[in-house]
Amino acid sequence: MAISRRRFLKFSAGTAAALGVNIFDNPLLSKAFASAIKETPVIWFASGACSGCSVSLLNALSPRIQDVLLDQVVPGHHVNLAFHPTVMAAAGDQAMNAMYEAEEKSFILVVEGSVITEDPRMCEVGESHGHGIEGTTHIERLGNKAQAVIAVGSCAAFGGVPAGGSNPSGSMGVAEFFKKKGVATPVINLPGCAIHPDWFISTLATYLLAGPEAIEVDTHGRPKAIYSKLIHDNCPLRGHFDAGRFAEKFGDPGCVYKLGCKGPITRANCPEKPFNSGTNWCIGNNHPCNGCAEPGYPFDDSMWAPEPIHEATPPATYPPIYTDRKQDLDWTPGYTALAGLAAGAVGMKALGKGKDDSERDQDKKE
Ligand code: SF4
Ligand code: SF4
Repeated sequence: MAISRRRFLKFSAGTAAALGVNIFDNPLLSKAFASAIKETPVIWFASGACSGCSVSLLNALSPRIQDVLLDQVVPGHHVNLAFHPTVMAAAGDQAMNAMYEAEEKSFILVVEGSVITEDPRMCEVGESHGHGIEGTTHIERLGNKAQAVIAVGSCAAFGGVPAGGSNPSGSMGVAEFFKKKGVATPVINLPGCAIHPDWFISTLATYLLAGPEAIEVDTHGRPKAIYSKLIHDNCPLRGHFDAGRFAEKFGDPGCVYKLGCKGPITRANCPEKPFNSGTNWCIGNNHPCNGCAEPGYPFDDSMWAPEPIHEATPPATYPPIYTDRKQDLDWTPGYTALAGLAAGAVGMKALGKGKDDSERDQDKKE
C-alpha cells in the first residue's frame, strides 16, 4: 500500500506523541517537518489554576486537540506544545528542560490560572539549587521573551475565582501582573470558566494565519470576534424576559434573570457556540449565565443576585411581543419590571411598531 509523505509524517508524529517523545528531537523527522511547515512552540504555563480550561481544550472535537497538535492548525503552521504540566509525558528536569529549550525559540506563552503574588510559594514550578522556582519568576521571564501571550480562562485574564473575596493569594490576571512588572508584551485575554475550546483554537489559528493585528480586542483585551455580543440579546429565553415570565426557582420555566442571570451584562458567543461540541450551554440548561467571561466574575455580592439592568436592547430583528395574557408578576425588585418595559419600548421604537395593529394597517393602505 502506498503511503503519502504527509500521512507518514502524521503517523510518525502520532506515534511519537503516544510514546511521550518530542518528534523534533529526531533530526531526520525534524528536517522533514521543517521543510514543509513552520513550527511554533507553545509553552502552556499553569499557575493558580484548577486545570478546567485544559480539560475543556482536551474536549475540542472540531478540530480535535490531537489534530491541532499533530497536524497543521493553519496551512504551513504546526503547533508544538513544548510544555504543558498537565498532559506532557515528561516530568522533573526533563519537563523543565523542554520549557527552557522552547523559550530559546520564538514561542507563544499561554497562561492558565491566576498569577499568585501574595505568597508565591503557593505556585512553584521546577527547582533551582534545591529550591522551588516561583511561578511569578517564570511568568515574568517567559512574558518578556514570548512573541505573544494568551491568558486562558477567567483566572489568567482577570484573577477569577482565586482573586475572589479576600484574595489571600494576591491573585491577579496576567495583564495586571505584566503592568506591575513592566512587561510590554501584549496579552490576549480569553476569559471563561472554563473556556470554550474553540475560543482558544480560533484565536491561535487567527494569530498564526494573519498575525496579532488580525485579532481586534475590546477594552478588556478580549477578541471582539468572540466577546462582542451581549448574551441577553441573543438568548433563547429573551422572549420570556420581555414578556415578564421569570423562573422563581431552579427548574421553573421562563427567563432565569431573577435567579441571578448575568446574561444582561455578559458578552460572549455562548448562545451561538454551545459547549461540548454544540451540545449545550448554561442557559440552554435553564441555568443562569454566571458571567464567567466578564472581569467582575465571580462577583462581589452574589453570583445568584439579579443584576440591575441599565441597558435593555432587544435586537431590531426580534418581533414585539403582543399578549392579552394577564401577567401575574412579582414586581419585586421593581427595576426588573421597569427594565422589561424599557426593553419592550426600545424594541417597539426600533421597529417603529408603537402604533396598534389597526393604525399600522391604515398606514399600509396610505
Ligand atoms: S436574563 Fe438571562 S435568561 Fe433571561 S433573557 Fe437575559 S440572558 Fe436570557
Ligand atoms: S453562558 Fe455565561 S457563565 Fe456560561 S459559559 Fe457563557 S459567559 Fe460563562
